[in-house]
Amino acid sequence: MARYIGPVCKLCRRENMKLFLKGDRCHTDKCSFDRRPYPPGAHGQGRIKFSEYGVRLREKQKMRRVYGVLERQFRRYFAMADQKKGITGENLLSILERRLDSVVFRMGFASTRSEARQLVRHGHVRINGKRVNIPSQMTKTGDVVSIGERSREIKRIQESLDALERRGPCNWIEVDKPNFTATIKQAPAREDI
Ligand code: SF4
Repeated sequence: MARYIGPVCKLCRRENMKLFLKGDRCHTDKCSFDRRPYPPGAHGQGRIKFSEYGVRLREKQKMRRVYGVLERQFRRYFAMADQKKGITGENLLSILERRLDSVVFRMGFASTRSEARQLVRHGHVRINGKRVNIPSQMTKTGDVVSIGERSREIKRIQESLDALERRGPCNWIEVDKPNFTATIKQAPAREDI
């Protein structure tokens, strides 16, 4: 399963905003964007003027990078969102949020989406009691996502859970911290994201 493995902080600098892709480090003074808030490359500090197309391209890339999705899969999600009733952009956000790796991140079991993706790939996550190791698996309302019993001892998971309060509540997921489970109460709306 393909994924982006290049330098991560460059992505924030390219998008000219913090995308919070490195968890706790993003809140420290080690953040590359805080130290060099301009695009990477020799001409990064030059004047940049975007065309209409350029503005839209940057917005699309930003979304793709936040969720760690590559181009082909993103196109597929867009086609799915376009077929559904309602506003396509909001449908797209809802689809991306319901990916299993994103849900695990929202539950607070990982400090970044890429860490959540690794937890899923390594078989630590269950949906309705069944082991799932596909990060792009879609979740639906009523699904119970949990961490396997033996995986609950993993220090990173516990540290991430402790930091959950700092990230603020997630209205569409009910987290049961002591039991390492979370229930999806409803589909995420734009204001929940
Ligand atoms: Fe982006 Fe800063 Fe986090 Fe790096 S440390 S991913 S630049 S927010």
